[in-house]
Amino acid sequence: MNDFQKRAEAVLTPNYRRQPVMFVRGKGAKLWDSEGKEYLDFVAGIAAVNLGHCHPEVTRALRTQAKKLVHISNHFYIETQIELAELLVKNSSLDRVFFCNSGTEANEAALKLARRYSREKGKGGYEIISAWNSFHGRTFGSLSATGQEKFWKGFEPLVPGFKFVEFGNLEQMKSAINSNTCAVILEPVQGEGGVYPAPPGYLQGVRKLCDETGALLILDEVQTAMGRLGKLFGYEWADVQPDIITLAKALGNGFPIGAMLAKKDVAEALVPGTHASTFGGNPLASSAALATLKTILENNLAERAQKIGEYFHSQLNRLKKNHPCIKEVRGVGLMLALELKAERCERVIEGMREKGFIINLTHNNVLRFLPSLLVKRKEISKMLSALDQELAKIDPEVI
Ligand code: PLP
Repeated sequence: MNDFQKRAEAVLTPNYRRQPVMFVRGKGAKLWDSEGKEYLDFVAGIAAVNLGHCHPEVTRALRTQAKKLVHISNHFYIETQIELAELLVKNSSLDRVFFCNSGTEANEAALKLARRYSREKGKGGYEIISAWNSFHGRTFGSLSATGQEKFWKGFEPLVPGFKFVEFGNLEQMKSAINSNTCAVILEPVQGEGGVYPAPPGYLQGVRKLCDETGALLILDEVQTAMGRLGKLFGYEWADVQPDIITLAKALGNGFPIGAMLAKKDVAEALVPGTHASTFGGNPLASSAALATLKTILENNLAERAQKIGEYFHSQLNRLKKNHPCIKEVRGVGLMLALELKAERCERVIEGMREKGFIINLTHNNVLRFLPSLLVKRKEISKMLSALDQELAKIDPEVI
């Protein structure tokens, strides 16, 4: 164990399985560790740094705002927050924005709003339907909406009123939804669950069922928005209009900020005093998000992500042809994955890290790729040739 590992272990809670590396600097897709070794980053802070590390526009906005006003609270109007909300509303099908600090908080706000809206409308339904294998966060509400029992262990009883259905199965949704349902919450592509895109027609079908029963459709876009899937928001692929969407991760390009966007009529249930956040959308966080969103929009980065994502996807399919250990290639835009037949694949992550490439493992055997939207073809090729070598070590075990 090296020095920083010992120091960390002595003072930090043991809830993370950290890799034995400490990054001290980043620029674009590149990272440097404390020993000066250079890496190419294909995780981007878990889909958070969509513009790459230390993007000059975001850095400039942070520096400028930090000199003016960092925090003031939502007891007052905040210029950068208003401007950010205007831009989010202009570029989405939603009308009102609540700001918070993370994805779990954005979902918490959405779940609370759904229940309150149902009561306000005199419907009184309180049940929320979510999908198995989903991930919505770690606070009690969002954890209760998360359809993976491994995350519940030791924390029960969870918040009552959550039901789970198989993701992508419209018949199950039809059987589960009724007049007591106040909302359905889904990810357009299940991220932490192993990168499973919603099947074609599924979200439209769920939208129809929500309309028939008066339930709200909440789309958790914490991982899928901000151009990641090749559109600013993932729901644009399905051509549905959700009642609520939640954002975080890439909204501030790594600076913590979350948001819940809702239709005007739905948002009206949040009257003064019903929900709040001290830091939510503070001047500094809003300035980072504003610079991030402007950069994505002005440079058509969602479209870029789509194009380069297609190339990346095709190269992963090529890799699959040569490696019997690859079970499936999945994903949309620049949220891509390789599912391996091997049981545990930490050694691939380790091997890649030794070669200078950071990739992610989810669900034990799914290699996940979430590079910056500005990733270059030659960076993808370099990473894939290293991966080719690492996978060749596993192939003989599964032939
Ligand atoms: N929702 C989704 C879809 C996520 O992927 C995540 C995090 O991975 C969250 C919510 C929770 O976000 P946070 O970690 O910012 O609370």
